[in-house]
This record gives sequence, structure tokens and C-alpha cells, in this order.
Amino acid sequence: MKIWVRFAVFHSCHPFITLQLRRRNAGILPSLEDLLFYAVAEGQETIPAHKFLTALKATGLCTGDPRLKECMDTLKETLKNTSDGVTLDRHLFKKCVQSNIVLLTQAFRKKFVIPDFQSFSSHIDELYESAKNLTEGQVADYIPQLAKFSSDLWGVSLCTVDGQRHSVGDTKEPFCLQSCVKPLKYAVAVHDHGTEHVHSFIGKEPSGLRFNKLFLDEDDKPHNPMVNAGAIVCSSLIKVKSVTLSFTLLNVTWFHCGYGIQFQSERESGDRNFAIGYYMKEKKCFPDGTDMTSVLDFYFQLCAIEVTCESASVMAATLANGGICPITGERVLSPEAVRNTLSLMHSCGMYDFSGQFAFHVGLPAKSGVAGGILLVVPNVMGIVCWSPPLDKLGNSVRGIQFCTDLVEHFNFHNYDNLRHFAKKHDPRREGGDQRVKSVINLLFAAYTGDVSALRRFALSSIDMEQRDYDSRTALHVAAAEGHTEVVRFLLEACKVNPEPRDRWGSTPIDEAVQFGHNDVCVLLMCVCVCVCVCVRATYCCVNVSTMVYLQC
Ligand code: GLU
Repeated sequence: MKIWVRFAVFHSCHPFITLQLRRRNAGILPSLEDLLFYAVAEGQETIPAHKFLTALKATGLCTGDPRLKECMDTLKETLKNTSDGVTLDRHLFKKCVQSNIVLLTQAFRKKFVIPDFQSFSSHIDELYESAKNLTEGQVADYIPQLAKFSSDLWGVSLCTVDGQRHSVGDTKEPFCLQSCVKPLKYAVAVHDHGTEHVHSFIGKEPSGLRFNKLFLDEDDKPHNPMVNAGAIVCSSLIKVKSVTLSFTLLNVTWFHCGYGIQFQSERESGDRNFAIGYYMKEKKCFPDGTDMTSVLDFYFQLCAIEVTCESASVMAATLANGGICPITGERVLSPEAVRNTLSLMHSCGMYDFSGQFAFHVGLPAKSGVAGGILLVVPNVMGIVCWSPPLDKLGNSVRGIQFCTDLVEHFNFHNYDNLRHFAKKHDPRREGGDQRVKSVINLLFAAYTGDVSALRRFALSSIDMEQRDYDSRTALHVAAAEGHTEVVRFLLEACKVNPEPRDRWGSTPIDEAVQFGHNDVCVLLMCVCVCVCVCVRATYCCVNVSTMVYLQC
């Protein structure tokens, strides 16, 4: 057993995993379903279904997650046949979780990008609450359909690249994407036609002008796809079919009941966009044979697409996840399309506030006149904020406050240092996991005799006496392997306890004796004898002085 454990710790990669799998399959180790049962049951014989669902939600997974469909369907069916409609014994629980066991195990082992999702979500709620109190800003009214929204509406939804989800506020309320659709439209164009083709029609530079300015760059091309001129040209490059497919893959419904009215309202108040369209037609900005007026209609339709914070957060998360939708696992956009899109969102996504936003928040984002902000933390999560009151530059007042506070608190800014973060929180790291990793690294360095790695650990104030699951220390390991230099370094430089006992009661000297490493034995014995002598001497002194004191 002991030998096996030693092997397991030091060959923790392939051989260990293979061995574990073999042992699991052979029934020597408990199955993943069993382990999940023990984790959720916390010592009980049965699990009430709601306890399982609450624990599941704490990981960030939703019961409506398409990846958990089989589990949820089986759970529903199984509960119908139980006596109280609530309780699951081990056998029934295993039956429910088995078809989604990999995802569930990942979730409960805290292997998602935000391991402590509950604490992260409560920070998000705090940021939400503090932005809620803001009363500044005006709801856009240049399109009559937008003016009807209350200025109290405020919602934030997020979805991580692992599909962990959290929402707070008015996140089920439908609103129009407006300019928040521009990144998606551009991404679809690049996905379908490639970067070169798309950029033969549209530039990549911030314009430094209002989003709906009737103006082109020196080459008579729109400045970028995030301003109206660029987005109109982009609409001429993509097909309705491609956009529909993308929304379907994203699980976003886009023909809502208000959609037709919104589109009409958009069209009727779209004189500026018609002017831009005709100007660009004259300048030959569109591909040959383009019907400019139907392109404009398509542009208006895309602006009028209705989403909720919840559904749009999946779009943002897909951009964060390199184009793969986290909850369907489908590739919606190519990595090239996503990278381009994020770059342009970063430099041009927030109207005339883009430079300041890139400076203060340092994340790609796109806002729209309906009050939405699509924010992407690349490789981590997508966030959608929505609140109709806008500041002078056209961005949601509460949304901007939320984004700014978010990166004040978490080290999500593109240029935040992830290695030496002192003041900001990194929700990607987990306290417990870090400790386990540091014990493994320490013991592995002792196992391989890597004194310089150990010096580095000691220098970074790592506890050199840390113990693994079996209470074994680096000194045990180095003694067993006969690494005299490591033993010397640990004893002399780090002054570690020379006689720690592991779970079988063995000390490093026992290890050295057992594996026949005489040099190590001598070294350890010297230190132990010295310590022993010192302790005895101190003891004697104390006794003598106590007696002297008492006699006096
Ligand atoms: N419907 C808007 C327009 O083109 C979109 C504007 C926006 O959200 O920036 O005028």
C-alpha cells in the first residue's frame, strides 16, 4: 500500500491516472458516481433531490443546461417512482447522474474556470447593487420604440467558458441588441469569407467620430465594423441563413413578438442610415450587384433583434470561448473571426468612450443605444449588462459603472499582472487547490533531487514542512530516495523538523534505513542526536534552575 501511494504521488500524471482508471473499472476503487454520491450525501444514506440541485447550482451549472438534459430527465422520471417523490438512495442517484458524470464530476471537483462560483456571484451582486443607485442618464428616444423603457430597468447576466451562469436583476426582460449585434455580424462575415475579403471593404481603425457619422476613411472605406457605415457594409457581406444559424447554435431566439414593430420603428427613423447607405453606394463601398436598400432593411432587422441579458450572455461567452458555445459545445465562429472581433471591440466598441474604456477597463466590449453592454473577459466569461439610461456618449450609465467596478475588484483588465497580484482578487484561482499543488511540487522536487527548485520554494516562503494526504514531508521523500543534498538543504537551511512521522508512523530515518541510504542516515542521525542533546540539556538546565530557585 505504502509503495503504491509513493508511486501515485510521484507519477501523478499518466501512470497514476491509468492505474486509477483500471482500479476503478475493476471495482477496487469507487466509481465516479459513487464518489459524487458521497460528496453530495455528506455521510447520509440518501439524498433529497433538492439538496443535489442546490449543490449543483452552487457550482454555477443550471438545471436547464442542455449538457445536463439526460440527468435532469432521468431525475424527473426517477422521482415519480419513489415513495416520497423526493429522496434518492445511492442506486437511484447513480442512475440519474451516470449519463452526465464527466461534467458533474468536473463541477463538483471545482474544476471550472471560476472554482468558487458562489463567492464570485455574491461579489457580482454587490457590484450590481452599487450601480443600481445611479440615477443619471437619459433613455434613448430617437427611435420611438426605445423611449418606452423604464429607466429603472437594470440587469446583469454572465456565462463562463465552462457554462457557469449567474444573473441578477431584470435579466429576463427582452431588449433590442441594437449596436451590440455589430460584433456578431462582423464575426459571421469573417467566419464565412475570411479576414482579407472582409477588410477589402472595411477598415480596422477607430474613427474618432460619432458612430453614425457620414464619413469614410482615406481609402473611401468605412473606418471599422463597429460604426454604422462599417456595420451596413458588413450586412451586405453576410447571408440571413448564416446569422440564423449562428443564433440557433447559440440558443438565442430572435423573432420575438415585438420584433416586427421594432424593425418598422427602426426603419422609419433611419434617415441617417439611408444617407450613409446612399453615400457609400456612390463611393462603391459595397460588393458588386448589392441591392443597397435591402441591405439597409437587413441592417435594421439585425438592430431590432430582441434578446435578454441571460440569452445574450451566452453570445458573449461564445466570444470569450474562442467561438465555441459553452452550453451547446457547438462551434459557432472560427477562432480567426473571434480574435478579430475582440480586437476591434477593444479599440472601437464603446463609441467615443472606446479609448477610455480600453484604458480603465481593458476588456473588449460593445454597447448599444438600447442600453446593453456586451463585455468579454477572454478565456473566462461573457457578461451582459443592460440598463436603458445612457450617458452623453451613448453608453449605459449603470453598465459603465459596473464594468469599471468589476476590474477594480477582479484582475480582469487585459494588463493586470496575474502572477504578482496583490490587491485585486483572481477568481480563477482557488485557495485549497493552490495548497495541494504546492505540496505536490514540493514533494516532486524532493523526489527528483532538485535542490534548486527547493531553494526557489524556500525563497518564496513556502512551508517546507508541508505534508501530503499521507502526512509525508519532503524530508521523508528525499530520505527514501537517498538524495543527500536535498536532505542536507532541508535540515540545515530550512531547519525542518528532522523527525516528522507519516501516517504509518515512519520518520525520515526509517525511510533511509529501509532503502539502505547510509549517508542520509548519518546526516539525519547527527541532527536528531544534536536536537535530542539540546532538548535534554535545556531540560536539565530548567530542572536545575527550578531546583535552585525553589531552594532559594
Ligand atoms: N439603431 C441604431 C442606428 O443605427 C443602432 C445604434 C446603436 O445602437 O449604436 O441608428
